[in-house]
Amino acid sequence: MGHFALTIILLLMIALIAACYKIYKMKALLDSYRSGFDISELKRAKKIVESSEKRYKNIFSVMPEGVILYGADHKKIALNENAYKMFNMDSKTFHEKLNILEPIFPFVDTEGNPLALEDYPVAITFKTGESIIGRVIGIKGTGKTRWISINTKLLEPMDSADVPQVLVTMTDITKQKETEINLRESNALLRTIIDSIPIGIIVINTDRKIVTLNQPCHELFRVEEPIKGLIGQSADKYYLPFYKYCEEEREKVKRILANNMPVVDEVEMLNNQLIQRSYFPFYMDEELKGHLWVFEDITERKAMERGILRAKEDAVKANMAKSAFLANMSHELRTPLNAILGFSQLLEIQETLNEKESTFVREILKGGRHLLNLINEVLDLSRIESGILKLSVESIKIASVIDECINLVRPAADLKGITITKKVESENEYVCADQVRLRQILLNLLDNAIKYNRENGEIIISSVNEGDFLTVHVRDKGLGIPPEAQEEIFEPFYRLENPFIEGTGIGLSLVKQLTILMGGKLGVESQIGVGSDFWMSLPRDQTNEADHPVSLEKIEMPLPEHKEYKILYIEDQLSNQLLVAEILKNVQGMKLLTARSGMEGLRAAANQKIDLILLDLHLPDMNGEEVFEKLKSNPQCTDIPVIALSANAMKEDIDRIIKMGFKEYITKPFDVPAFIKVIVKKLR
Ligand code: ADP
Repeated sequence: MGHFALTIILLLMIALIAACYKIYKMKALLDSYRSGFDISELKRAKKIVESSEKRYKNIFSVMPEGVILYGADHKKIALNENAYKMFNMDSKTFHEKLNILEPIFPFVDTEGNPLALEDYPVAITFKTGESIIGRVIGIKGTGKTRWISINTKLLEPMDSADVPQVLVTMTDITKQKETEINLRESNALLRTIIDSIPIGIIVINTDRKIVTLNQPCHELFRVEEPIKGLIGQSADKYYLPFYKYCEEEREKVKRILANNMPVVDEVEMLNNQLIQRSYFPFYMDEELKGHLWVFEDITERKAMERGILRAKEDAVKANMAKSAFLANMSHELRTPLNAILGFSQLLEIQETLNEKESTFVREILKGGRHLLNLINEVLDLSRIESGILKLSVESIKIASVIDECINLVRPAADLKGITITKKVESENEYVCADQVRLRQILLNLLDNAIKYNRENGEIIISSVNEGDFLTVHVRDKGLGIPPEAQEEIFEPFYRLENPFIEGTGIGLSLVKQLTILMGGKLGVESQIGVGSDFWMSLPRDQTNEADHPVSLEKIEMPLPEHKEYKILYIEDQLSNQLLVAEILKNVQGMKLLTARSGMEGLRAAANQKIDLILLDLHLPDMNGEEVFEKLKSNPQCTDIPVIALSANAMKEDIDRIIKMGFKEYITKPFDVPAFIKVIVKKLR
């Protein structure tokens, strides 16, 4: 309660006491004169006094405070029920026991120390005549301490028969006090936590004065002044000077504070410590109340990161050196092997060899081929690792490659009586892959499926469309692979114990690396005794319209019948020129002109009226993109639609080309009906 309110209540009570006192005196007077006066007059006066007394009693009884009147003669009058309640007793016990000078309850001050009798508020007011307002004392009862706020006021005696009295009003503030104690405790706990975390925290108000900071923050900035002395001081003056680039940081801090957005950055200290600094604005009810800065020493962490990075670089370098060494060695080994294999083959066809000699030559050849295979695979692996293996990714019809590979391995499968079944969802699925490497992967998986199969076993090769990817499964009903080895078989030179089956242990690791290089994934699911399912998924080529094959007859040609369209095909490969010429022969009203270089193409486009240009992106004199730019900068050619033709089916390249302004991007090998359809569409 505010002092003003307290003072008003106090004044009101004094008025009440004075009135009571007067009534009391008047009653006594009336009693003494009762016999000599007119009875009815007396009765009337008595009634007035009684009703007035009742009214005041009522007022006291509804007051939340306890009110007591202490006399200098040690008499006390409790003016309302609350007075007893404050001491947790009834009126009888109160009047019998509670003596101002001999209290039955120990009183304590706010710190919990016992209060000396002369320090009791009533005693002080009697002694000094001074009023006391809002003095808090504790009453230590049997249970927990009760806290009361006390006001006192000295009432001077009315006449010589009277004694001075002290009016005491008491408010029970136990709940408030407990809340305050709890708050203090939780604050102390919070403070301990904040001081014990190894992160510096400082809170600054909107005037950029320090509100609080923790011990680690104080230590980080090595300020000599104690924390207490810093509260309320300008924050800039405090920590900015400890930054290495003080002026730049000052500007940076200004910008951060102006933006009021959380920021995390790094800052260097004068002593070369590296600090991660985080800023958070502090809002309450959507109003900015202050700024929280958090500082974490990351010097060691950074040094460690740098060490790890250096170690990684060293490891990469060492690995590259190893790969380069392997590549060179493999190359060196191939040369003599060429002679071994070459001459063995010549020997093999010699008719003069006897049976024994022929067996020897076949063994030399077998060993030589095995060695060549091993060298080739090691060479590929080391090329992949050193990043020099280049792939030529294009759009490939997967069903055709599967057919091709089945044909190649069928003789070996027949030898073991193994059947190979192809189950593809669609014959017209295309993947983005390097043709040679894709064949190498499938052959490898099929070879293994035969090698590790049982006599008269079965292999099923299938393809499943999975949205952006197409997955090829090579399933066999062979030995199976134990679960613990299903990861390791993809490591170079890892082989399961199998003395009767020859192998190098490199195939699967190479296959996996190649698949990853083509943006795909490779894995296995296998059960011992049941068989294995080696699967490989590759990015599907969805730009290829071959998904919905269109027959030549079905292509609508709503081109004006009498018009002849001139199509210029800029392409250096004669076979491609012939192919396109052959295709366009089937389409009425189209005339194909060809150019074998960029320059030749540009000249042809400028000299005659061309309706459409087909542009190969790999030309001998300049690349297709340069040709395109030159075409667009020539006003005579700028409006001619240009279609790019390329074997490269990488999505980012296609996107880049289309962005440049090419009308279409056709990947080779192209699907003929779809190819014609695109040309007709662009001519229309
Ligand atoms: P290689 O066949 O030359 O030993 P790979 O790298 O192709 O090397 O295969 C590694 C190992 O994985 C093989 O030695 C074999 O133990 C196991 N493996 C590969 N394919 C199969 C399969 N289809 N069924 C059972 N085991 C297989």
